[in-house]
Amino acid sequence: QEDIFKNVVSHAKEYGFIFPSSEVYDGLSAVYDYAQNGVELKKNIREYWWKSMVQMNENIVGLDAAILMHPTTWKASGHVDAFNDPLIDNKDSKKRYRADVLVEEFAEKINQKAQKEIEKAKARFGDAFNEEEFITTNARVVEYLSKRKEILERLAKGMTDDLQDVKALIEELGIADPETGSKNWTDVKQFNLMFGTKLGASAESAMDLYLRPETAQGIFVNFLNVQKSGRMKVPFGIAQTGKAFRNEIVARQFIFRMREFEQMEMQFFVRPGEEMKWYHHWKDTRLKWHLSLGLGKENYRFHDHEKLAHYANAAADIEFNFPFGFKELEGIHSRTDFDLKAHEEYSGRKLQYFDPELNENYVPYVVETSVGLDRMFLAVFATSLKEETLEDGSTRTVLELPAVLAPTKAAVLPLVKKDGLPEISRKIIEDLKWDFNVAYDEKDAVGRRYRRQDALGTPFCITVDHQTLEDETVTIRHRDTMKQDRVKITELRGIIENEVSM
Ligand code: ATP
Repeated sequence: QEDIFKNVVSHAKEYGFIFPSSEVYDGLSAVYDYAQNGVELKKNIREYWWKSMVQMNENIVGLDAAILMHPTTWKASGHVDAFNDPLIDNKDSKKRYRADVLVEEFAEKINQKAQKEIEKAKARFGDAFNEEEFITTNARVVEYLSKRKEILERLAKGMTDDLQDVKALIEELGIADPETGSKNWTDVKQFNLMFGTKLGASAESAMDLYLRPETAQGIFVNFLNVQKSGRMKVPFGIAQTGKAFRNEIVARQFIFRMREFEQMEMQFFVRPGEEMKWYHHWKDTRLKWHLSLGLGKENYRFHDHEKLAHYANAAADIEFNFPFGFKELEGIHSRTDFDLKAHEEYSGRKLQYFDPELNENYVPYVVETSVGLDRMFLAVFATSLKEETLEDGSTRTVLELPAVLAPTKAAVLPLVKKDGLPEISRKIIEDLKWDFNVAYDEKDAVGRRYRRQDALGTPFCITVDHQTLEDETVTIRHRDTMKQDRVKITELRGIIENEVSM
């Protein structure tokens, strides 16, 4: 698994998807830049999300709020007082860790042991295997899973009641510093994750600000503006994508946990009392959205929160099977009227909706869906990256991205650099580039060019050869099957469109 992850990171760099930030200065920890292909993939994921939210739903509209907000926003939201991570230091190595992450990783290892037993049994029993029954009757698996559950429950309790119990848990489980193996831990301390900055030049008048740690608050403070100017009727939603900043302590999983990252959030405003119906609706809808990308149903699972944040009355994560195990990809939270009420209180302004059907005013309840764009990128990229052994025994690296998300939809390749083939290729590109990102490549043998496009995730290669001169046909090669068809140049647009349109 570690090897797979290393491959992902090096492939992302080698093929121009992701670079470490300011690399000439040896990089900046947990900050990354999206390169020429990465920026396209990321944009396509954002667009895929945006279309499904805003374009497809009459009652959801978009917003692009500023990163800098009035500092009282973060008082009201609870971030100044409570947006903390529990940190623990190792006394010997002086290294700092998130206490909850240490415990979660320990629990995940136990889970992996259970999964291994299940896989073994599956292989042994074949079709006759009943997983549900096995999980509840096999003594070893039952023990692993209940141990894991017990640990996570105690962690959740410690996180809300008493952080030193999390420390006690770490000691009882014998969790060691992952890098040095030392088990000599300090107490657990709280650390606020917001980045501070200043507005204004003079020392006296400068105002302390924060870089937003989530995009959601920009939606809440604009709730009434949008509702009134858009004549929106509850239930309705506001969707937003944009940068968020967190001074993360454990940041060693590539773009999974960054200090500057992008969120795609939607706040859905509903009648009080109807939030559970909508919470289930959005849980369902969001999982379907993920599944529509075809990365494999088995790679997703829900994690329903047992202990809830102070603002929530229900919460679940959609977890994804990343190269380092199942981890949170998206959160769906029923946030009650906590945020709007808090902004009413701190601003002194009413944030209420007049419901014409009920003939009454109320502060709506909110159901939120919040997914990390960079985590989506990692999920898509890591799952799509494959080493295949071909029939002739050779291997190829192929990035089997969902075609709708691929940075480049087609590459046009003249078989040779002469006889007018480059000119025809350019003409094909001139025609297609209005609708798709199309690349041109004439360097190296055509087989090597195919391999390069495979590694970039390009769904189609269009090859122009001498026959093209005679009958205006080309070959079109499909990335995943490597099958080649001879088609008319005029058919290309339709074929590509069919695969790549959202
Ligand atoms: P985690 O427990 O992994 O820190 P979280 O529960 O704090 O995440 P939320 O505050 O619910 O995350 O944020 C919503 C989404 O934003 C997450 O599901 C994740 O996809 C994304 N996200 C949060 N923090 C980061 C980060 N540091 N880097 C990249 N994506 C992030």
